[in-house]
Amino acid sequence: MQILSEFGLTKIPLLTSAMNNAKKIQGLARREVRLMRAYQPAEPSAGAVQLHANEAPCALANSNRTNLNRYPANRPQELTKRMADLYEVAEDNLLVTRGSSEGIDLILRTFCTANRDNVLLTPPTFEMYQVYASLQGAGTINVRRERSDGFALDMDAVLAACNQQTKVLFLCSPNNPDGSLIPRDTIRRLLDAHEAKAIVVVDEAYIEYSNEKSLAPLVKDHENLVVLRTLSKAFALAGARCGAVVASPALIDLVSCVIPPYALSSLVIDSAMNALSDAGIKAMKSSVRAIVAEKKRVQIELGSCRCVLRTWSSEANFLLVEFDDLEAIAKILNTRKIMIRTFDENSDLSNCARITIASPADNDCLINAVREVG
Ligand code: PMP
Repeated sequence: MQILSEFGLTKIPLLTSAMNNAKKIQGLARREVRLMRAYQPAEPSAGAVQLHANEAPCALANSNRTNLNRYPANRPQELTKRMADLYEVAEDNLLVTRGSSEGIDLILRTFCTANRDNVLLTPPTFEMYQVYASLQGAGTINVRRERSDGFALDMDAVLAACNQQTKVLFLCSPNNPDGSLIPRDTIRRLLDAHEAKAIVVVDEAYIEYSNEKSLAPLVKDHENLVVLRTLSKAFALAGARCGAVVASPALIDLVSCVIPPYALSSLVIDSAMNALSDAGIKAMKSSVRAIVAEKKRVQIELGSCRCVLRTWSSEANFLLVEFDDLEAIAKILNTRKIMIRTFDENSDLSNCARITIASPADNDCLINAVREVG
């Protein structure tokens, strides 16, 4: 009896409010997408005589693999399970994508109606949010992170800047290009403030290099949270193009209507499965440890050069560095064929460069060149 009455008083209202939120979040999607059902293409079936998908009957001599005459699985189930286990979510919380770039595009195409909706960005940040927003015809509201504040996020300004038409907020943590983390509590505050009003995307492309835990498991509690993950960075698979959108099952269903059928090739699926094996995960962790140690060394070495005015503390696999004379640095790096990422002179990142932490030998090439400038 007591259990029943507890149920009556607390559990059911909670459940109802979660269901209401899920409905409201679905209601944020573009009408066209809401009315769609994900296209169901022909699925491969091992052992069957497969005459249903207009494939070639067997691989030809020039194929470097035996099964490429067949379509891959429309949604790679084993890979989905492996990624879901790794990110500590259920399989229906995850859609495998062609890198996290595709995740950004899918979210924009799912939620933003052209010439009507907008997204909130916090520059300087990853530039592809702006690119994909423009491609979708979505407006952008920019709440700048100021260099003088260490590129910290002004949460009150973010909350004040959103309007009725703001469908998606893009947060990058650790942020590209400075490597700063957005505190967990800040993101929770934003999720609560926008509950059922807008989608909060947290791009965690570099989270493996950080001491902070991923927010992915929080998708169980927040219908409006999307976490983007990728195998391009810590798993060293940028060439394979594999990532994931992690979100509530309702949101994953919507995004699944937008991703093309057979998005991931068999070659990519195999590479990702290898990378996510026990041995692959162990190798990733050891490589991350080495890069984090190198990052400390590079930061100390660069910090001791007169021409380096500042390095920012970074939770990613790169450092943002301010030089007193970036032109002089660019010149010497150019003669040594060392590439770094510089920014528009008129931006808040003038005289700054984003430098990837690489092998000790490559890092030494950079340090030696910068030392020559002084
Ligand atoms: N997010 C951030 C913050 C990035 O820096 C990048 C790539 N540089 C991406 C997403 C896209 O990565 P990918 O598509 O390779 O997963």
